[in-house]
Amino acid sequence: MKTYRIAAIPGDGIGVEVIAAGIEVLQALAARDGSFDFAFDHFDWGSDYYKRTGLMMPEDGREQIKGHDAIFFGAVGAPDVPDHVTLWGLRLAICQPFDQYANVRPTRVLPGITSPLRSVSGPELDWVIVRENSEGEYAGVGGRVHKGFPEEVATDVSMMTRSGVARIIRYAFRLARSRPRKLLTVVTKSNAQRHAMVMWDEIAAEVAAEFPDVTWDKMLVDAMTMRMVIKPQSIDTIVATNLHADILSDLAAALAGSLGIAPTANLNPERAFPSMFEPIHGSAFDIAGQGIANPIGTFWTATMMLDHLGEPAASARLMRAIERVTADASFHTPDLGGKATTRQVTDAVIAAIAGDN
Ligand code: ATP
Ligand code: MG
Repeated sequence: MKTYRIAAIPGDGIGVEVIAAGIEVLQALAARDGSFDFAFDHFDWGSDYYKRTGLMMPEDGREQIKGHDAIFFGAVGAPDVPDHVTLWGLRLAICQPFDQYANVRPTRVLPGITSPLRSVSGPELDWVIVRENSEGEYAGVGGRVHKGFPEEVATDVSMMTRSGVARIIRYAFRLARSRPRKLLTVVTKSNAQRHAMVMWDEIAAEVAAEFPDVTWDKMLVDAMTMRMVIKPQSIDTIVATNLHADILSDLAAALAGSLGIAPTANLNPERAFPSMFEPIHGSAFDIAGQGIANPIGTFWTATMMLDHLGEPAASARLMRAIERVTADASFHTPDLGGKATTRQVTDAVIAAIAGDN
């Protein structure tokens, strides 16, 4: 029997609650399937670890997880630790060295969940956003001089490389080709940012020639936000820079009903390093410890992890269980307007897995 070694990094706040729920569900799936199993290694890295040690993860943290089949990640961030410390100290400290350059974010209105868009009833909103995850606006290039003086100058340089742009656009074309509508929108801001964004447009046109069966268009990011609201049916796969896709995907998550249901995968498509799977939401300290965090985003994330591990049947089974549960409003957590707890939703999904044929 195949045993997948998973590095579980729950992190902070509700990350701890949803990863515990996700592990229970994955174990129920393995038991139901019978042909594979999981071995979870738990790592208590995050803001508490930082308060004890001054680091978000140990110096050799990446060494400890580089041999795992996947990383199952909760969320980081705490009210009393600066955001850039938690982000750069753990999440990006894994994403960047492990070259997880494709951040993939499916967005769909699940059964029983209402989109705030009046024009959308379920299946009309079915997107996947591909976010460049290794360079661009979040490359970390820049600096500050004359700190605190009136003459202070600060820069954040958006660094784009031809190879980095080409590989993410090629990944997005491949993904668009695998989806029924074979439709891709390449998002840039090449009217105002006239160097890297113009290169992005040029590379998109070059890569497009390799995919004659994919219909593609390009769009400025500001216009794209309007199109997502006004003509959601016209969109299928989206590819955008690190910053642009960060913003578009929060909008997409909200349009699909709640941040609490949105999943994401940080992929190293070449599989030289483990990929990392996490719900989109953060540590949400306003609701942490109350047992009311919506675990659906983490369960959906687990389906992406199963696909990546090569278990598409188990992934599909989990997705069916999720949809059966969201369709029943008595299993909606408070973020969806209901009263259900994390425990109740988790038990309902586990029961749906057991009852699935
Ligand atoms: P971060 O700084 O890491 O983004 P955050 O504390 O700002 O984290 P977010 O995760 O961005 O929190 O979420 C914003 C709000 O959405 C939360 O404060 C919470 O009320 C709600 N929310 C997010 N995720 C969930 C969830 N899984 N279940 C229920 N509510 C959620
Ligand atoms: Mg936030």
